Amino acid sequence: MAMFTRLDLPRGAYALLPVFLGLLALIPFTGCGNDPSVWPDKPGPKVVASFPPLYCFAVNVAGDDASVRSVLTNQGVHNPDTKTAELRTLNRADLFFMNGLGLDEKIAARLKGGSGNTRLKLVDLGAGLDKKRLEAPNEHAHEDDEEGHGHHHDHGTTDPHVWLGLDHAITFVGEIRDEFKQIDPAHAADYDRRAAEYTAKLNKLRADGVALLKDKKERKFVTFHESLAYFAKTFNLEIADVIQKVPGKEPSGKALEKLVKTCVENKTRVIAVEPQFSGQGAAARVLDELKRKGITDAVLVEIDPLETAQEADLNADWYETKMRANLDALAKALK
Ligand SMILES: [Zn+2]
Repeated sequence: MAMFTRLDLPRGAYALLPVFLGLLALIPFTGCGNDPSVWPDKPGPKVVASFPPLYCFAVNVAGDDASVRSVLTNQGVHNPDTKTAELRTLNRADLFFMNGLGLDEKIAARLKGGSGNTRLKLVDLGAGLDKKRLEAPNEHAHEDDEEGHGHHHDHGTTDPHVWLGLDHAITFVGEIRDEFKQIDPAHAADYDRRAAEYTAKLNKLRADGVALLKDKKERKFVTFHESLAYFAKTFNLEIADVIQKVPGKEPSGKALEKLVKTCVENKTRVIAVEPQFSGQGAAARVLDELKRKGITDAVLVEIDPLETAQEADLNADWYETKMRANLDALAKALK
């Protein structure tokens, strides 16, 4: 029983042990640098972006004058579950940038309510876009597959994936700049300068993408969920159809059959899949069917709609890098 033998310490040491353990428990747990709820100890506005693209827009305008955090980083905006860490982030924040257009208003309101931060300003960026330049969701999304007569329901909704269109992304950058200038007028000139620099980068990204794809005869592709309408418009491409009409919901066999028929009729052979979504099996099934129906060169191409990011990957250049990777992948797939 040697292991239970008391070490030869003075009696007083044992008496103090509970006190020592008690003190240990009082040391605040602050070590983790990746904890999004911990704000850096510096002056300037504290700003939260609802998800990764908005984070990139905001952090490029913020520079060193403000701190920016993304809340729904790795879970996305479609079906998020809000965690305590995010509520703690919001607790000390000044601004919350959301996309709007039906995507994240409810989550933003819920997060604000849960955080108890009544002075937090929710900024609906989508509300500042030109309504005439917004897309309705792809009409295929409203086809009633059960009744099978292709009846279109008009829900009066808007396709919210505006961050993937460069014009709208640039408008967002301008709106973000104006909010920073309002909350921190002392650094107005710096916000102006950085917004102009980032806008120039985004314009370059658009010009490079258009140039990369300009000689492609083939301009149509199928998307996995209904996310790429603005992206396609920016780069003069066309969405032939959508596999997963409702994000996260497996399409029916009948819907897939219809999609394959559309692809065969339009000679569409490029199918975009997303790294984040489950249910990629549907895309593989469409690919197999297309090959069986004679479109032997049908391909899957990975296009990231930029709705989620790994915490470790998210930095100021993430949006641009991901957009360029998407363009390169498409350029390789389209003929
Ligand atoms: Zn989406």
